[in-house]
Amino acid sequence: MNDTTVLLGLDGVSVARVERPADGTRRVHLVTADERAWACPACGVFATRGKGSATTRPRDLPYGESGLEFRRHKRRWWCREPGCPRRSFTEQIPQPPADAQITMRQRGAAGRRIRDAAPTVIQAARDLHLSWQTVKDAFRASAREVIEAPLPEVRVLGIDETRRGRPR
Ligand SMILES: [Zn+2]
Repeated sequence: MNDTTVLLGLDGVSVARVERPADGTRRVHLVTADERAWACPACGVFATRGKGSATTRPRDLPYGESGLEFRRHKRRWWCREPGCPRRSFTEQIPQPPADAQITMRQRGAAGRRIRDAAPTVIQAARDLHLSWQTVKDAFRASAREVIEAPLPEVRVLGIDETRRGRPR
């Protein structure tokens, strides 16, 4: 776990630099810090030759007074393994997903906020600077985690769980 993971709760990335644009926000540039990202998704061989980079703009949770804005920098790689059908790929880690405009962490937070604190979807969307539709979808996903969680194991079958004697 690196400092970025601890500070921001984001896995597999680290802060390359932070800018302070005139509007007072903080722009955080993230780079990949998970070596698994450099393995070709088709053959699994680690790439060594770069092919430029791509930048995405995931949104994240409000942080401090002015919030944080993110720029996610990802490198592209050539796969030079003979016989591999994949000639190039963009590095990818479990979180944040390659093309997501909202990080998994934020999606989880938005859903849990509604599920656990029960504000309206509209209020949660406002708090998190997300669209109503995004928050609603996040809530559905978050609610599913609870609904589909395995039931606790029954250890001792008590009087409440089964009927004893003749039904009245
Ligand atoms: Zn490959």
